Amino acid sequence: MVLGVDFDNTIVRYDDLFHRVAVERGLIPVTLPPRKNDVRDFLRGQNRERDWTELQGYVYGPRMAEAQPFPGVLEFFARAIRRGPPLYIISHKTRTAVEGPAYDLQKAAQDWLAAQGFFDPSRVGLSPARVHFGITRPEKINFIRATGCTHFIDDLEETFLEETFPTGVVKILFGRHEPPPSLPAVEVAEGWAQISDYVFNVAR
Ligand SMILES: [Mg+2]
Repeated sequence: MVLGVDFDNTIVRYDDLFHRVAVERGLIPVTLPPRKNDVRDFLRGQNRERDWTELQGYVYGPRMAEAQPFPGVLEFFARAIRRGPPLYIISHKTRTAVEGPAYDLQKAAQDWLAAQGFFDPSRVGLSPARVHFGITRPEKINFIRATGCTHFIDDLEETFLEETFPTGVVKILFGRHEPPPSLPAVEVAEGWAQISDYVFNVAR
């Protein structure tokens, strides 16, 4: 088994942060549920796609340090690095925000991983060489292929629906309790506890 893991919304949880920043900017009512997708749907419902895109650049850039890891993800990485399987973080991120000021989003993500202890040998011990950020989704898929992943974990079904996604790689959709109609055969995991059960008990 060689495991690949997506970054945004799979390792990093942004729900509270999106809500907080959107309230600060007066974009949403404070009563909106504190979830990223509720913020997105509210802005899209008002035809404010540009506000949504700019908000993402700001959250994934200068406010990135305030984002939280999903519960259990650091423990999972620490355990996998001690006992295997080999694992990679593979994601796609434009180098700078699509709208608004030119923040370096890839550097913000690397800094976040360092600040959370992913590269600290006494906490997790992931090698920075195991982190690959492609600029586009096809580039991300090339990394999945090149690293020889046998399993890939991602919160977005779009990744798995990409035409070039390598056949034979087990697709694990993160944050769901049942497969979506577009991907009936996908594995699902609601959180890192399920991933841990799957990787350390079932698939070895
Ligand atoms: Mg993601």
